[in-house]
This record gives sequence, C-alpha cells and structure tokens, in this order.
Amino acid sequence: MSAGISNNGLAQGGTEWPVHSMDRPRPPVVDPGPERPSAPPPADAVVLFDGRDLAQWQRADGSPARWRVAQGYMEAAGGSGNVLTRRSFGDVQVHLEWATPSPAAREGQARGNSGVFLMGHYEIQVLDSWRNETYADGQAAAIFGQTPPLVNASRPPGAWQTYDIIFRRPRFAADGSVLQPARVTVLHNGVLVHDAVAFTGRTVHARQARYEPHADRLPLMLQEHGDPVRYRNIWVRELAEN
Ligand code: MG
Repeated sequence: MSAGISNNGLAQGGTEWPVHSMDRPRPPVVDPGPERPSAPPPADAVVLFDGRDLAQWQRADGSPARWRVAQGYMEAAGGSGNVLTRRSFGDVQVHLEWATPSPAAREGQARGNSGVFLMGHYEIQVLDSWRNETYADGQAAAIFGQTPPLVNASRPPGAWQTYDIIFRRPRFAADGSVLQPARVTVLHNGVLVHDAVAFTGRTVHARQARYEPHADRLPLMLQEHGDPVRYRNIWVRELAEN
C-alpha cells in the first residue's frame, strides 16, 4: 500500500499511535557506514543460502521456490510468491543481507518492499528507506505495523545491508492464550534498532495485530512484494529456549 492510507483509528498495543500513522515521528537517520563484504557463517549455523541454489527454500504450497539465483544472491521474482525455508525454527539468531533495486523506482511502500517473516508470521520490514517517506511503522527494519526502528540505519539502494535478528518465539498456553509474546532484537547494518521488543501479534496490514496460536516451530519466510529485492548469506543459529 502507498503512504497516506486511512487508519482504523485504533491505537496499537502499548502506544498512542494508530497503525501506519503518517503523523508518527520518523526515527532519526544514522549513517551506518559503507557496505561490507560478507563474513562466513559461524560453525554451528544452519546455512539457508550460500549463494548457490534454493535447495533450502520452497513456495507456500511446497513446490520449488522460483526466485532468481545469480552471482551469489537470490532475487524476488515478480509474481513468484513468498519463499519459505524447508526447515522450521523456533527461537533463533538470524543473519541475512539484502539489497533493494538501484536506481530506486516508485515511492513509499512500493520502493524495494520485501520482508523477513519470523515463523512466517512476524515481519521485520525490508524496504528502501533511503530518503523515502513512508509511515514510521512500515519503514526498513520496522516491526511492520507495530513498532518503528529506534533509528533509520539504511544504506542507499543497491548497497548490501545486514539484519542480525534474535527472535524468541511466542509461548501459548494449552487454551491458546498468550503466555509470552514473541520478542525480537534487531541490528540493522550493525546498529541496534529493536531491543527485546514484543510483537503485539501476527503481522497484518492496516489493522491492529493480534495473536493466534501456532506450532512451536515454523519456517522462516521472505516476502515477494513485486520488487526485485536481493538476498545473500542467509543463516540461522537455533537457540536453546530460555
Ligand atoms: Mg514488506
């Protein structure tokens, strides 16, 4: 959706700001420095993409992923759908690198949109937020529709950017009620943008999030939003539950 959509007038959990409010202040811009070469994964990582093939990925219906692989990256192909890992994960550390198209095309949410969906439900937004106005809770590194990043640590379009994510899954009681919300810590280009922030529920668009119970382990998903966003060097470390 483009900027300026009307909201439903509901404040989201814990804040006074309606979902996707254009009045919500934008986080300060912090230059994270130039892009850096990829570093090899740690020894105990589950490598999900090493630049060669999509063997670890599939479409939502279980058919082979159809993103483009070239020169060490995978690229969202228009109309090919989201890609999900074949393996499922609960509590994880995630590292990945992404780049939005250059030159940038279009504006707001239509500029380099993708997303990292933890457990397929909880999105850390991927967007070209280099001099690109959109609602604060929808810019790069936002917990989409819920919480803006602490700062805007974006690099320009075409430059490789990193996310390092520590995710703790939600815990549900037997009756489906939430014992503990999902929590996430995120570094964008090495800069802290979320510090153990709770998700208010599953990611939804232009509505207030809420939780629905689900399995303890689910695939990681990357969003295909019509823009040829690229990813490389994707790995996770499974974390012991705390
Ligand atoms: Mg997105």
